Amino acid sequence: MKVFKFGGASVKDADSVKNMASIIEAHNADQLMVIVSAMGKMTNAFEAVLQRLIDEEDYISSLQTIKDFHAKIIADLGLKGNQQLNQEIQQDFENLSHELERFSSSLGYDYLYDQTVSFGEILSTRIVSAYLNTRQIKTTWLDARKLVKTDNIHRQAKVDWGATQNIIRSQVAQHKETKILLTQGFIGSNAKFNTTTLGREGSDFSAAIFATSLGAESVTIWKDVPGVLNADPKKFSDTVLFDQLPYKEAAEMTYYGATVIHPKTIKPLAQKGIPLYVKSFENPDANGTLINECVIPNLAPAIIHKDKQTVISFKISDFSFINEQHIHLIFEHINRNHLTINLMQNSAISFTICMDDNPVKREQLRMALKEDFLIYYNEGLEMITIKNYNQATIEALMKDKQIIIEQRSRNNFQMVYKV
Ligand code: ASP
Ligand code: MG
Repeated sequence: MKVFKFGGASVKDADSVKNMASIIEAHNADQLMVIVSAMGKMTNAFEAVLQRLIDEEDYISSLQTIKDFHAKIIADLGLKGNQQLNQEIQQDFENLSHELERFSSSLGYDYLYDQTVSFGEILSTRIVSAYLNTRQIKTTWLDARKLVKTDNIHRQAKVDWGATQNIIRSQVAQHKETKILLTQGFIGSNAKFNTTTLGREGSDFSAAIFATSLGAESVTIWKDVPGVLNADPKKFSDTVLFDQLPYKEAAEMTYYGATVIHPKTIKPLAQKGIPLYVKSFENPDANGTLINECVIPNLAPAIIHKDKQTVISFKISDFSFINEQHIHLIFEHINRNHLTINLMQNSAISFTICMDDNPVKREQLRMALKEDFLIYYNEGLEMITIKNYNQATIEALMKDKQIIIEQRSRNNFQMVYKV
């Protein structure tokens, strides 16, 4: 059993779906578990519908855009006359409308989000499954809401690994004869069978959940990039493709902000020693990147950008020095506000943190600590981390930048600068 994951870009229109089918066809010597996301930018489109609903604006027309988008792909794939697909999709849209109509603020936005945005994945996989079957690629559609069990935290649900593994194993065991098992990324359900989601871009993590539950031979994430690059190709022209990366390197890159793989994906795979391939769906025969347990001397420096950063400095004003009690107090409030620190630094009289821009939480922190410190902040900054840096890379990246914080360890160089 191998696990394949296809994201939104790989199913954004009929041609992409056909391309995906060809990739699956070329690999169906093995039994495949295929995880698919919502098509194209549909998750954003669902979020826009919700925003209109919350703002008490007309959301029906936004919903129609979503219907039209899927209807076009269905038509372009020649599936218009597929009765079963039509019925399923009609039922999905009825269920979706029902959820939207019965929304009341007492149920909460996050709950509504999961009950509705999850339809992006449901619709996508229904269409892909129907199409694969017309190509004689025998496919069974599975409902991830019945397979991935989570807690109750809507939009950031935590997986109940024990229950999930048992269900996935027993369900998949019933389909030994089917070559392709197709299901959704990103979604699951809580103990009450309400739909939950694992966080934006969570389908990579879903692939890891299925792979570890099934003891899969490997996971392949098919992307619109050639593999894991040492920098964002949208920001740099001369990027280097990593042929191979140790799990640890890849996991740390996601921590520092690399978006090529969802941060939660690596850990479960590393624990089970399941190799992860990141490959291009545009060039499926190319090797891409293999992430596994390995040692690679002289890795090229990896450059990771994080934009929308805030730096906050807490200063002592009475000629005493920053001590552990001050830091303890600051951290108490950081923790209370569920803030994540991307970088920190102290001097004799100040303690400085860098976090993602979040004016509401920044203000809560400032109000809580303004009696104890003079507080200065700077928003809209950018941060660059260079893993496995060399001097030439640092110099090239620092050039012409107004640097606010600079830090280096043996392996990493980090800087926060004005844009
Ligand atoms: N469709 C979801 C999103 O766009 C999950 C995913 O693509 O991984 O966030
Ligand atoms: Mg997506």
